[in-house]
Amino acid sequence: MTNGHPLRLYNSLGRRIEDFIPSGAVTGMYSCGPTVYAYPHLGNMRPYVFADTVRRALRWKGIEVRHVVNITDVGHAVSDADTGDDKMEVAAARERRSVLEIAEFYTRVFFEDLAALNILPAAEYPRASAYVPQMIEFAAALENKGYTYRLPSGLYFDTAKDPRYGELAQLHAEGQREAARVEQVQGRQNKTDFALWRTEEPGRRRVLRWDSPWGWGTPGWHLECSVMSIALLGPHFDIHTGGIDHRELHHVNEIAQSEAFLADGKQWVRYWLHNEFLQLGGAKIAKSAGGAPRLADLTEAGYHPAAFRLFLLGGHYRSQLDFTASAMDAAQATLKRLVARIQPLRPLPAIETLEQAASKADPRTLDLIDAAISNDFNTPQLLAALQEALRDPVITPDGLRTVTAAADALLGLGLAALDPADLETSRAAEDLTDQQRHDIEQLLAERTQARKEHDWPRADQIREELDRIGVQVTDTPQGPAWQLR
Ligand SMILES: [Zn+2]
Repeated sequence: MTNGHPLRLYNSLGRRIEDFIPSGAVTGMYSCGPTVYAYPHLGNMRPYVFADTVRRALRWKGIEVRHVVNITDVGHAVSDADTGDDKMEVAAARERRSVLEIAEFYTRVFFEDLAALNILPAAEYPRASAYVPQMIEFAAALENKGYTYRLPSGLYFDTAKDPRYGELAQLHAEGQREAARVEQVQGRQNKTDFALWRTEEPGRRRVLRWDSPWGWGTPGWHLECSVMSIALLGPHFDIHTGGIDHRELHHVNEIAQSEAFLADGKQWVRYWLHNEFLQLGGAKIAKSAGGAPRLADLTEAGYHPAAFRLFLLGGHYRSQLDFTASAMDAAQATLKRLVARIQPLRPLPAIETLEQAASKADPRTLDLIDAAISNDFNTPQLLAALQEALRDPVITPDGLRTVTAAADALLGLGLAALDPADLETSRAAEDLTDQQRHDIEQLLAERTQARKEHDWPRADQIREELDRIGVQVTDTPQGPAWQLR
C-alpha cells in the first residue's frame, strides 16, 4: 500500500518547502504550551489546532507520533526578554489566590478548551515547575562549557559564542537585529543574550523560588522547553511547533542553548513549523471582562466549538486570519450544511489513515484529500474537496461515506457524531442579560431616529450591526419588532 503523495511542509529553518522524512519509527513532536496565568483567548488556541492538524496528517500517513506539550507554571516573565515579574506571581496577586491555585485553575481551563476543540491529547503535558532541578543541571552544564556569564540578575547565555545564533529567525550574527521586544538588562553583553537563571533581587523574595549555584531564583523561560523536550523525546526529535511569534526569539534561544548543551554537531530539531496569528481586532464577541474573546464566549453566543475549528481550518495555517462575528456565522452555517448533508450517510466508518480509506473511498476524492493535506497541510483545499464530493451525484453512498470519514480524520470536526440541533444558532431572548437587551433597544431607537431623519445609510448601518449580533428586525406599523436568529 502506498502512502500517497509525499508529505511536504514548510520548514521555518531555511524558509522552504521540504519533504518530511521521519528519522525513526516514532516521530517526536514538541509544541510550546501555554503559560497558565490567564484565560486562553481564541488566538491562543490556534497553535494547538494547527499542531493537531500536523498530528492527524502524520497519523494519516501511518507515522506514529509522540507529542509533548508543556505547561508553563513558572519562569515566564512579564516581558519575553526576561525582565519584569513572573506572570504567575502577577496573576496570583491580581486574583488574590495562590500561585498553585492559579496554575491549577488555568491549566484546567486550557484542557477544557483542548477537549472542546476535539484536539487529540498529547502523550505528556510536563509542568515546568516539576523540572527545575533538571533545568539547573542543564544551565550548570552550559556554564561548564563556557557559554555563559554571571550578572547580579542571574546567569546569561552568551549568544556571541554561538556562530549560528539566530539562524531560525534569519538574524545575522553581526549587527544582530534589535528585536522590538528585547529590553536592556544591566550588564548584558549582547542584546540577544538571554537569562538561563533569574536570581531574585536582594530584599525581593519571590513566591516561586529555588536554590541554585547562582542564588535563589527562577529558571529563565526559554530553558524549560529545551530541558523538557530532551527529557521526554530524547536529545533529537523531528518536529517543533509554535506560533510565529516564537520564531523570532523563544525558538531561536531554545536552539542556541540545546545545541550548545548537546554539542554533537547535529541539528537539534529538523523541522520547525509556525502558525500565523489570529487577529482579534474585528471581534465583536468580546465579553469576558476587558479581555479578548475566548472559546466559552463563543459557545455562550450560540456557536459550536467545531464551528470555530472549521473557521480556523478554512484558512491556511501560514496565513493571518481575521476573527469576526460574520466569519463565525459563515463557519457555523457551513458546518450546519455539512452535517445536514452527511446525516443520511451515517454511521460513518472509523478511519484514521489513508490506508484504511483506500479500499472503499471514491478514489478521485481520496487522492484530492491526500494531495491537499500533503501540500503543507492545506486544509482549505481539503475542505473544498470534501464539499465538492458531497455535491457529486455520481459517487456511491459507500464511497462518499468513506471519503467523509477520511476527510474528518484530518479535519477533526467530529462529523460522524455532530448533532444538528447543537448547531442551531437561534437563542431565546430570555437568555439575554439586561445589558444586552438594553444595547439592542438602544440600537433600535437610534435606527428609528435615523429613519425619521431620512439618514438611510446610518439606518442601514445599524441594521447590519444588529444583524451581526444575531438580531432580526421587522418593521411593523407599530414600529420595529425584533427577534434573535
Ligand atoms: Zn517553548
